[in-house]
Formats: sequence, structure tokens, C-alpha cells
Amino acid sequence: MPQSILSLAWKAFVNEELCVGCGKCTGVCWTGAIGIVDKKAVVDFNRCVCCTACVRACPKGAIQIAPHSSPILQRDPVLERLKTQLNVVMSKVEEMERSIEEL
Ligand code: SF4
Ligand code: SF4
Repeated sequence: MPQSILSLAWKAFVNEELCVGCGKCTGVCWTGAIGIVDKKAVVDFNRCVCCTACVRACPKGAIQIAPHSSPILQRDPVLERLKTQLNVVMSKVEEMERSIEEL
């Protein structure tokens, strides 16, 4: 299998028990695949290209890489994506609220 296809077949996933919601992974994920939902990181598997930047950035060792076929990754991708998008919207709303408070 070509390397590019192989790397696309592996995905990052978050161990919610270890995640403390610090957001360091979201800062390094250049594909926008990670959001914070309910103070836990969530990976959008459709966007994750398995670059491992988040794995190296996480101070808690909460992110691991697994084959996309692994049962641990068999969550509803649409739901995961919606959660990530909702998190982005919530961040924007919080930003706007802070800006309004500063006026
Ligand atoms: S860097 Fe690690 S601990 Fe921090 S939010 Fe991401 S997964 Fe959680
Ligand atoms: S492995 Fe790379 S693309 Fe996937 S979630 Fe982590 S930083 Fe983002």
C-alpha cells in the first residue's frame, strides 16, 4: 500500500480519561481536526491525516494513533464532526462576548 494511503488509514484518538482539556492539541492540528467538547478533545476522523503532531504536543499522553478500522474509532463520524463544528461556533461566540464586554 502506498505510504500516503497508509497514513490516511490511521487516525488519532483521545483517551478521555487522560485528557484534561488544555487545548494544546488543537493549537498544533493544522487540519482543524480537533476540537474541545465538554472540556475533552475530540478528533474529527474525516480531517485527521495522522501527522501525529497532536500526539507529540499532548502533555498527558492522552492521544494515540490507531488503524481506522479499530473498534475504538468506530464512532459516528457525522456526530463527531458536528461536535467539532459546534465547538468552533461556541469558541467564536465566547470570543464575541469577550469583545463586547471590553467595549
Ligand atoms: S493536549 Fe492532550 S490533554 Fe490537552 S486537550 Fe489535547 S488531548 Fe486533552
Ligand atoms: S494526527 Fe495530525 S491531523 Fe490528526 S488530529 Fe493529530 S494533529 Fe490533527
